[in-house]
Amino acid sequence: MYELKFDPELCASCETIDCLMKCQYISFDLQTAREERDRLNRGEDSFVLHDCVTCYACEEYCQFGNHPFYQIVDLQEEKGIWPTPKPIVHSQIKMYSPKGTFEPKEVEGTAFNMCLFPDFRDSIKGKLFEDTTQLFGRDLFCNLVYLHYAKASVIRERVPQIIKNFASCGIQELVCFHDECYATYKSWAPAYGIEVPFKPVHLFQFLIDRLKENRSAIKKLGFKVAYQRPCSTRLVPETEPMLDELFELIGVDRVPRKYDRETPLCCGAIMRASGREELADEINKKNIEDMLDAGASLCVFNCQGCYAAMGEMVAQAGLRPILVHDLCKLAIGEKV
Ligand code: SF4
Ligand code: SF4
Repeated sequence: MYELKFDPELCASCETIDCLMKCQYISFDLQTAREERDRLNRGEDSFVLHDCVTCYACEEYCQFGNHPFYQIVDLQEEKGIWPTPKPIVHSQIKMYSPKGTFEPKEVEGTAFNMCLFPDFRDSIKGKLFEDTTQLFGRDLFCNLVYLHYAKASVIRERVPQIIKNFASCGIQELVCFHDECYATYKSWAPAYGIEVPFKPVHLFQFLIDRLKENRSAIKKLGFKVAYQRPCSTRLVPETEPMLDELFELIGVDRVPRKYDRETPLCCGAIMRASGREELADEINKKNIEDMLDAGASLCVFNCQGCYAAMGEMVAQAGLRPILVHDLCKLAIGEKV
């Protein structure tokens, strides 16, 4: 019932085929990229559907907002191409299914969406998080992770009800702790014509606003940091300047490096789940060496999944792993 807004006409007049030419995991010459693009647009099988590591990046590379990654996921599902082993997919879909008996929550102050990360509840405390009400649970879980599993049908089935659950709490705005939630309501839902009756607010914007309210408490940190850009930010690249503003506010230097900005490397979690261990090892190694070569002393994460996948690795390499909200707490003198 919800159809992806994808316009093949845009591709017909697209000279660069950036969606495929800029892919960091599959190599193309322009002719091959055009042929495979045409194949995908005709709904045919293509090696792209099999080799895609689901890094989400082509969604950002397309300058026309034509949703090439969402198209790939839909085609993978239609053709039964599983980027992740079936048992993992089935067990996760079952384990995190909605309970279906959502009772609207009473929201005081700012609605703060913790999605499926209740373990982080205690870190969302202190001056920056005053007057917030945390919302979380399976009935509020964005489900966008199933893009990695070629299961957009599950997202299509669940997201409209999740949006209704949030709306039933009477909220006008929803701050999203996890980038993927923000991307669900800001990018994925509109791409499928699903209305979102509240304003999603990115964690970066929330932190910027709260830091400005507490400006006198900020002590510039002076750290050189490497940023581990998560896949979900590829769906909402407009949030990148927000992070730069945030870093400037707290006085940290985002070191220029090869694997940041338009060319970040994946944390490897999904590759490992898909049995691509060697590729995951290779990209983790290249990525961490790049952080060290660039002179960073901290690795800043904005995704709890990336943090779980790489936190220990970067620590062993001598970099302090830290989530972005904890870095902001440090800047106002709070313990993390
Ligand atoms: S999806 Fe976007 S980048 Fe790719 S060919 Fe079409 S218009 Fe060009
Ligand atoms: S999602 Fe990533 S790996 Fe897959 S085609 Fe797009 S850019 Fe390439």
